[in-house]
Amino acid sequence: MDLASMIRDVPDFPKKGILFKDITTLIKDPKAFQTAIDMMFDYCKDMPVDVVAAIESRGYIFGGVLAYKLGAGFVPVRKEGKLPAETIRVEYSLEYGTAVLEMHKDAIEPGQKVLVVDDLLATGGTAKATIDLVEQLGGEVVAVLFLIDLTFLKGVEKLKGYDVYSLIKF
Ligand code: AMP
Repeated sequence: MDLASMIRDVPDFPKKGILFKDITTLIKDPKAFQTAIDMMFDYCKDMPVDVVAAIESRGYIFGGVLAYKLGAGFVPVRKEGKLPAETIRVEYSLEYGTAVLEMHKDAIEPGQKVLVVDDLLATGGTAKATIDLVEQLGGEVVAVLFLIDLTFLKGVEKLKGYDVYSLIKF
């Protein structure tokens, strides 16, 4: 199954000059969604994963199912101000300005093995910030999984030293 052909390109979203990779055309297709999950699961099924940490919001589509299939817990990584209890935060740079990601302070126990999941790897800033949150709490990142890698942005270089896997490369 050619998963790459099921991703829709949306030019100039959310702002001019960005070619947005829209995954809704893939996930609405039962067979394609199942295939994507199966391939991601195949990659991590033998890893010792206690917790899946997924990134708001498209990371949850894959992270939740993977956590269930792995028999692991699920930890939401959210944008600033969304989590109700005590949080830890990390600020990271975007193309213009900065952004903040947060995780609950009690989301991960020291020594727990964590799988990080998101829909798409671009510059790697978001995934690196998530890794920083996991490590602040003493968690150990076992792998970082994406549906899509925009390889020309070289995000993997920001994730050097980690086990990084993506299903679809553009
Ligand atoms: P980055 O931190 O640059 O790796 O950006 C990754 C995050 O931004 C992911 O959570 C993606 O969902 C989103 N993102 C960045 N670029 C795109 C794009 N071209 N199409 C869709 N989502 C994107």
